Amino acid sequence: MKKQTQLIHHDYQPPQGFESMSVPVCQASTILFPCVDAIKKSQWQDRSAYTYGTHGTPTTFTLEQRIATLEGAQHALLMPSGLAAITLVDMAFLQSGDEVLIPDNAYEPNASFALHELARWGIQARFYDPMDPEDLRQCLSAATRLVWMEAAGSITLEFPDVPALCEVIHSSSFSKQRRILTAVDHTWGGGIAYCPFDWGVDIAVHALTKYPSGAADVLMGSVSTSDQALFEALQMTQCRLGACIQAQEAQLILRGLSTIEMRYHAVDSTTQTLAKWIQSQPCVQKVFHPCLEDSPGHENWKRLTQQKAACLIGVLFQPDISEQVIVDFCNQRSLFSLGYSWAGPMSLILPYQVAALRRRGWAYQGQYIRLAIGYEDEQALQADLQKGFDSLLK
Ligand SMILES: *Cc1c(COP(=O)(O)O)cnc(C)c1O
Repeated sequence: MKKQTQLIHHDYQPPQGFESMSVPVCQASTILFPCVDAIKKSQWQDRSAYTYGTHGTPTTFTLEQRIATLEGAQHALLMPSGLAAITLVDMAFLQSGDEVLIPDNAYEPNASFALHELARWGIQARFYDPMDPEDLRQCLSAATRLVWMEAAGSITLEFPDVPALCEVIHSSSFSKQRRILTAVDHTWGGGIAYCPFDWGVDIAVHALTKYPSGAADVLMGSVSTSDQALFEALQMTQCRLGACIQAQEAQLILRGLSTIEMRYHAVDSTTQTLAKWIQSQPCVQKVFHPCLEDSPGHENWKRLTQQKAACLIGVLFQPDISEQVIVDFCNQRSLFSLGYSWAGPMSLILPYQVAALRRRGWAYQGQYIRLAIGYEDEQALQADLQKGFDSLLK
């Protein structure tokens, strides 16, 4: 036997009994079976065995269970990104002739998938005002199959009354003819600020890229549900798509999960303090953060959550401040870097033209930026922002 073969079919087995605190990384495409009979009996759907890497490994099964616990759900599935988790829900449940309802302040790629991909398959998207349950009622039709929600909304952080939105759907005559599914993107809540299943939603999507990672170095998403039939449908669509995650990446999320609650609370505290302080700045017209009384949906947030919030703050400047001045403001910050995503170690800043993103309009005039607070200290972040705000008054 040549070395080459010996190196592949080697006798050595490490001793049994190794227990690390961390979950081992089990990398595989091929998983070996002890005999042909075992292949026939092997079941990946109920997670009782391993068949092939795309269907799961001990590392990914473990992460699924922990995400289900985080979400307060019976089942969780993992996808390669938060966006892929959103599109899995669409693909599992929508068919030609259906309508999907999307809140107008949704994570924009959710809307974009509907308008560009689902549209080609004969599925129509409608956009509703998430702060007005009556508007949602008007948008429902016999074709409605799926209603997306997001708490809080992307970029502008309006906090909707999700139980009221669910009630509108469940009491509608259309949902008596055919089940209308509800899915919430609750990335902002991190599984910490609230449990979306308490509000009567069917499915929860979470970009694990954000808080569960907490390190800005891995992309992943999850879809959770406590409904067995929905779970099985999601699972089969995921399997047919060939969408799966790698064990190395699952392990990075497992590492992050153990500290998620502490990180969420710590950054929440800094963010709420900064949001209140920013509100007092003369160059600022309005601050968007659900802890602030005049931020849209403040009352819903107060009533429906643990009064905890993610690291995001929206800042609307006075209408006489120009776009170029705000571009300079963003470029000149020393502790706020320019970049997408959030819930990582570094604070981030980005300007947004909100009106251009909204199909149902945007009530405000003025330049808008979104801040994502990182793990730096509050005083240093405040000093950097203060310098910027002061320069706007000159
Ligand atoms: C970031 C984000 C996503 C997408 O997650 P990716 O892993 O970056 O694809 C989806 N929804 C919300 C609310 C997000 O903030």
